[in-house]
Amino acid sequence: MKLSKRSWAEPFKIKMVELLKMTTAAQREKAIKEAGYNTFLLKSEDVYIDLLTDSGTSAMSDQQWSGLMLGDEAYAGSKNFYKLEQAMKNFYGYKYLIPTHQGRGAENILSQVMIKKGDIIPGNMYFTTTRLHQELAGGTFIDVIIDEAHDPENLFPFKGNIDLNKLNTLIKKHGAKKIPYVCVAVTVNLAGGQPVSMKNLKQLRQLTHKHGIKIMLDMTRIAENAYFIQQHENGYAKKSIAAIVKEICTYTDGATFSGKKDALVNIGGFLAVNDKKIYEEASNLVVVYEGLHTYGGLAGRDMEAMAIGIQESVQDDHMKARIGQVMYLGDKMLEAGIPIVLPVGGHGIFIDAKRFLPHVKQVQFPAQALAAALYADSGVRAMERGIVSAGRNTKTGDHYYPKLELVRLTIPRRVYTQAHMDVISESVQHVYENRKKIKGLNMVYEPKYLRFFQARFQKL
Ligand SMILES: *Cc1c(COP(=O)(O)O)cnc(C)c1O
Repeated sequence: MKLSKRSWAEPFKIKMVELLKMTTAAQREKAIKEAGYNTFLLKSEDVYIDLLTDSGTSAMSDQQWSGLMLGDEAYAGSKNFYKLEQAMKNFYGYKYLIPTHQGRGAENILSQVMIKKGDIIPGNMYFTTTRLHQELAGGTFIDVIIDEAHDPENLFPFKGNIDLNKLNTLIKKHGAKKIPYVCVAVTVNLAGGQPVSMKNLKQLRQLTHKHGIKIMLDMTRIAENAYFIQQHENGYAKKSIAAIVKEICTYTDGATFSGKKDALVNIGGFLAVNDKKIYEEASNLVVVYEGLHTYGGLAGRDMEAMAIGIQESVQDDHMKARIGQVMYLGDKMLEAGIPIVLPVGGHGIFIDAKRFLPHVKQVQFPAQALAAALYADSGVRAMERGIVSAGRNTKTGDHYYPKLELVRLTIPRRVYTQAHMDVISESVQHVYENRKKIKGLNMVYEPKYLRFFQARFQKL
């Protein structure tokens, strides 16, 4: 099976390069030990190919860089705010914009404004910061993603879909009054970048409409989701990414957005809503946590770069090359027989650590151990998306045991070449051939919140 038929190539050429340090195996072994076998605690300098995240790691275009020089750094009413507001309205179509320093800033404000103690927030698989803000506001997140999403070998093309039966049952059990909104993520990050279909969104809109429940979109990777709809959903092959993106937004009441992913900037985000009352409360709260409602923790120049990045992110040529590169790496992995999550999603390759390291029990953190071994092999930095990321159940204190125990190789946008993809694939193959030597880990330091960022481990 090959994921892509024709060669793709980048719709850009390279104008400036950033030199990388090459390390030896001994240096890497030492560095990962000092980092407590947590790739988040490595120094970036010691990393050769950085696949930790696609967040804030994109290469900006010359247009965006020149946009930085147009920063209007007035405290209030900056020109760049109005440009960003216009871009948001043009490409996403919501009525009101509140900029925030990044996505979680918007999640905090949305959760504070909309969630009351005891509320239920259904969503299509949790996201770390999103769920935490819902919980801090007194709510409980409940997963209503379709079962296929939890099966890394299931080939259904829209594994991000909401299971409407699960949602219906939840509404019957708790009552619509307890559900302020359904939180829908597009290209579901923790499921492996799996898209939601337009059909599912339409049906969800009908169901929630009937019960007076709002839909809030986590639109962080909406353009990538639109690409999958264009490629795989009936009736969308001839529509542009931009048109599909806008249609997705029409089925929702508002959105949180991390500009650090699709929108090709190093920092930035926003909350967008259609309801005036929610906007007013949120624009009051943003002053407490982020900054005045016309900058929300961002410099004017950051808002300018994000406005330009939004426009670049919905171009068909851009998205074809972006996902083409991810598929290229996916093909290499499949050829080598590496167990990965299928179908390949939008922003990276997710290695199935349960099948890669069947001899390591989940409580011994197999994905964490695999990410550390990959770094030691070649200086490729990946990250854990398994039991460490899932954290603990606040009521029982036990680990959550997610079905998916994954290592994420996240591809930054417009940053690496096809030759880098080859090096990554060769390193994963080398580690796979030597997988029996990899042992589990013991967690020796565990932070209370979002532990995967700072936890430390020792080899068993
Ligand atoms: C990154 C991300 C967020 C949070 O955004 P930040 O900009 O990192 O604060 C929320 N949801 C999803 C799906 C994300 O990938």
